[in-house]
Amino acid sequence: MSNLDSMQRFTFDKTDVRGQLVGLHKSLSAVLSKHDYPAVLKVELGKLMAASALMSATLKYEGRLCLQVRLPGDVSLIQAETTNTGEIRAIARYDEDKTIDTVELIGGQLVITLEPAVGKSYQGIVPLESNQLNEAFEYYFKQSEQLGSRFWLECDGTIASGFMLQQLPAVEGYDVDAWDRLSHLASTLKDEELLTLNNETILHRLYHDEEVRLYDEEDLRFACTCSKERIGNAIAQMGLEELMEVIVEQGKVSVDCQFCLQHYSFNKEQVGDLFPEKKLQ
Ligand SMILES: [Zn+2]
Repeated sequence: MSNLDSMQRFTFDKTDVRGQLVGLHKSLSAVLSKHDYPAVLKVELGKLMAASALMSATLKYEGRLCLQVRLPGDVSLIQAETTNTGEIRAIARYDEDKTIDTVELIGGQLVITLEPAVGKSYQGIVPLESNQLNEAFEYYFKQSEQLGSRFWLECDGTIASGFMLQQLPAVEGYDVDAWDRLSHLASTLKDEELLTLNNETILHRLYHDEEVRLYDEEDLRFACTCSKERIGNAIAQMGLEELMEVIVEQGKVSVDCQFCLQHYSFNKEQVGDLFPEKKLQ
């Protein structure tokens, strides 16, 4: 079994290649327990969560990395977010009146957003041209960094695993053939092995002739970043007039966070506070 609810980085001595392994179990169960997702959607959510954990290692500041798969079909959204401290959450939207037995990615978009706690967000968009999510990440790094990367993402509905190899800018004197050799070796790893073997065994199985350096595990756990303030900012988008209509009808505005099901409610005064520039009648 791969190391669960953790991310682990590794490097190869004297090469321009680095890698990461991710395993999710409790954090995946926490996400899946909030909604009754179809089985195929659980698998795609798990893969996207693994990818977000792998990608979060690129955060060089306090903040979060958000991945959205936006689709035109009965499944309209799959979203996973990981913060720089390893807090992970995810959600999917789909037509609950339909039977979902496949998730078609072709024709959709992968939206990658880096959200620093302070400062401007950065967003990259990749068209989904195959049903293999990993190819979209490889394309993203090719476009944005001009460097090779390979992603392997697996999920069986209970455990999600991710494996990433990335080429770094060339350093003089390093092994120039390393990228081709190491990525070729990685491609011999079977899906089942990625899901069931621990990190040391996976790396030994692939790279027993290489000098691999494995770093300490970094914990990943389910946690939601919602707050009354954030939910308030989100509902404020509806506008004061519409919110006051809800207050008149229901006495309050009730909202459940879709990620963690935490309940929030806003009375008339609290709704008014969301619009400091307008004076309440
Ligand atoms: Zn929440």
